[in-house]
Amino acid sequence: MGSKSAAVSKPAPGTPDIPVVFVTSMGEDVDHLQGLSMGAIDYIEKPISPELVRARVKNHILGKRKQDALKGLTLRDGLTGIANRRRFDEALLEEWSRAARGKTQLSLVMLDVDHFKIFNDTYGHVAGDTCLRSIAGALSQSLMRPVDLVARFGGEEFVCLLPGTDPAGALLVAERFREAVAELAIPHEHSPTAPTVTLSQGLVTMVPVAEATPDLLLVEADNRLYEAKQNGRNRIGKAAAMAKSPSPETGTSVERARPDLPTILLVDDDQHMRAILAARLAFLPANVEVVASAEEALNFLARYRPQLVLSDVVMPGMDGFNLCGRVKENAALRGIPFVLLTSLSRNLRERSILAGADDYLSKLEEDQVFRMRTRLLLELGILNAVGAGGTEGTECSVEVEGSTAYLCSASTTIQKQMEIQLLSAKIRVHVVSGTSDLMRDLHLRAPDVLILDLDQDEEALRECLVGVRDTAGCADLPVLLLTSKGEEARMQPLEEFVTDRLLKPLEANETRHRVKLLVKLASARRNAGRGKP
Ligand code: GH3
Ligand code: MG
Ligand code: MG
Repeated sequence: MGSKSAAVSKPAPGTPDIPVVFVTSMGEDVDHLQGLSMGAIDYIEKPISPELVRARVKNHILGKRKQDALKGLTLRDGLTGIANRRRFDEALLEEWSRAARGKTQLSLVMLDVDHFKIFNDTYGHVAGDTCLRSIAGALSQSLMRPVDLVARFGGEEFVCLLPGTDPAGALLVAERFREAVAELAIPHEHSPTAPTVTLSQGLVTMVPVAEATPDLLLVEADNRLYEAKQNGRNRIGKAAAMAKSPSPETGTSVERARPDLPTILLVDDDQHMRAILAARLAFLPANVEVVASAEEALNFLARYRPQLVLSDVVMPGMDGFNLCGRVKENAALRGIPFVLLTSLSRNLRERSILAGADDYLSKLEEDQVFRMRTRLLLELGILNAVGAGGTEGTECSVEVEGSTAYLCSASTTIQKQMEIQLLSAKIRVHVVSGTSDLMRDLHLRAPDVLILDLDQDEEALRECLVGVRDTAGCADLPVLLLTSKGEEARMQPLEEFVTDRLLKPLEANETRHRVKLLVKLASARRNAGRGKP
């Protein structure tokens, strides 16, 4: 049985699905059992009868074909027939490790149909489905190499994996996608972008490092896609220079940084987390300097003045709370917004504020909110540096007492809670229950902060916010959006107008903290405006 066991051993890479039939001369049940338990599908006893062998092998081949067909089905998207998310995830993992081993470039394109909701609303869901099928076909036909893979990522989103492809090559493919979809010329009469269906794309190229996960590629491509949407849709968003490895160790360093951009200092002892966070920050026009400990951060801060510090809490040696304390007791550094990267635990949030941090942020924070917060904190840091005029910056400790917030909410519960929760911060709340009242009162007096409840239709709110921007004294008004958990999709059309979000049900400490931060931002914006000639 010794020689046979080698032939039947199944777990060799790439072959575990091949049916194995063993041939045996031993009639003992125990031998057959052993063979079957090692993964063989069947056995044939010697002396062999050719007919029997043919019949059995034929059955096994038929069975294997059926199995393969079924497996193919589970890896294919039901609507469009191209690869599905599962197939893509498998391929991504495989190509990521392969590229990490070979130190080769891996490109990824994320695609999203523009204004597809409007398309469905105009032509109906059946036409929407047909449209997605046509797009999937056009994308598949645009690929030239067998290793390239295009898949439906979900909904009206597609994704394309391009192994061994540099940024220029990936851009070529993305351009081809754009042309192919343009050639389909599917009418989209109500699209604000073009008279026919268009796509926005996000493109990224990396030389993977084995320690990081391929999520990095997805996060980065998604950021680029978001930029493409922001910049007018029907275009390709790509990083300025992404041929570099995503490893923060080889990422931006002060020497290589662009001097015209602000700098964010990122402190985290976990290499993997550093890479992920650096990728999540890549959407900001800023240099990201990455260090692995509080000690290194202090070294950096002794020589350079970043506009924002994001620090992990738990690190060997000095922890994030201590680092924050050290920064805040230094008059020259005090004005730099300091953010602790915490879990969502309330206890940690409150400790962060006690330690003097300007804000806290979950590493797993939902994308939109992560973007809003980091954008707003970076702006605060930039304005503080300007306001400090080269001298010691202390703007983060601006007075919030006596400032005014407008609250627009139809809910009397929210109205009451907000008034009570902001009372102790001595922030006045002016309540209006709808957008028309809001516009009327805004013309009378501009507040420091506008708090909007997402309790009405987001398109109506969007229109209202466009009006707010055009109102005298309100162009720079920070806007805090009140949403419930899971309403992120509804926030999307409002993102460009909204500065931060606050979750319902309202929690007193969190309400005070979010509103105060926006009051500080308003004050920094005013000061910077006054400083201008
Ligand atoms: P944007 O340009 O910002 O991407 O706008 P959008 O309308 O395309 O984006 P949004 O995410 O708001 O809407 C996506 C729409 O895609 C909503 C949903 O009804 C539609 N959709 C998602 N999957 C399918 C599908 O399988 N079939 C059809 N017909 N529609 C789908
Ligand atoms: Mg989408
Ligand atoms: Mg879309």
